[in-house]
Amino acid sequence: MNVPGTPKPRVAVHKFSSCDGCQLAFLNLGEELLRLAERVDLVHFAEAGPLDPDTDADIAFVEGSMSTPEDLERIRRIREHSRMLVAIGACATAGGIQALRNDADAAGWAAAIYSHPEAIASLAHSTPIASHVKVDFELWGCPVSGRQILAVVNALLLGVGPRDNGDKVCTECKRNGYPCVMVSRGIACMGPVTRAGCGALCPGLGRDCYGCYGPVENANTDALAAQFALQGLDPQAVVRRFRSINSQAPVFLAAANKAGRRRDG
Ligand code: SF4
Ligand code: SF4
Ligand code: SF4
Repeated sequence: MNVPGTPKPRVAVHKFSSCDGCQLAFLNLGEELLRLAERVDLVHFAEAGPLDPDTDADIAFVEGSMSTPEDLERIRRIREHSRMLVAIGACATAGGIQALRNDADAAGWAAAIYSHPEAIASLAHSTPIASHVKVDFELWGCPVSGRQILAVVNALLLGVGPRDNGDKVCTECKRNGYPCVMVSRGIACMGPVTRAGCGALCPGLGRDCYGCYGPVENANTDALAAQFALQGLDPQAVVRRFRSINSQAPVFLAAANKAGRRRDG
């Protein structure tokens, strides 16, 4: 809580390899962002205006994965200058969609596409922030929602730890009274193993969840993979369900590898 006469908490928003969608979740807060700006000093947020990347911050939000050698240097500087570091979005928490290259011949792809691949300084793997520096809290999603961001900021400003949602998407789906696409239409849905937070957005629109909020705690991926097989998905299709936006989340990675062994064996 900001006490009159004391400096406002300093908040920074940093970007690494990403599509900017999670920063847009900030900007889409609209009036809420203006109200937030009265309670904190936004000291660095390139997409919104303030530029001071090496400044000290009480809370640093970090979007994007570690994909270049320069990223590794910069995240260490940010960590040194930040009291709390919050990773936001699938790129920052699990390497993002760009981590699909982790299992591919990334150098071969660059050589096939670019006339001067030597100009590209890219690491062979895209990795989450927590693989390199201490992260105080992770907000999953692709993109995260503005509601989640506000909840984290409010909790940290009140001096309490942000609450991690332990529910799965199915719980939100049921609470909202949405028909189950897996039961009613036989569509393979990742909701049973995906953490809640989006309000079951996709089932609410009559389509399957594809797991963008990452694995829920104690995700039973074996049972879901078996259910997918019963629905007629071949092992390669099951691999693709788990190897998507959050392919490097350990639980999804293990499930994809297990399905891959069934495909190959
Ligand atoms: S998590 Fe998704 S929306 Fe957020 S920056 Fe990465 S790709 Fe964009
Ligand atoms: S539609 Fe998906 S998220 Fe909703 S209850 Fe069915 S399996 Fe769960
Ligand atoms: S329903 Fe699943 S894929 Fe859709 S927004 Fe929510 S977590 Fe992401």
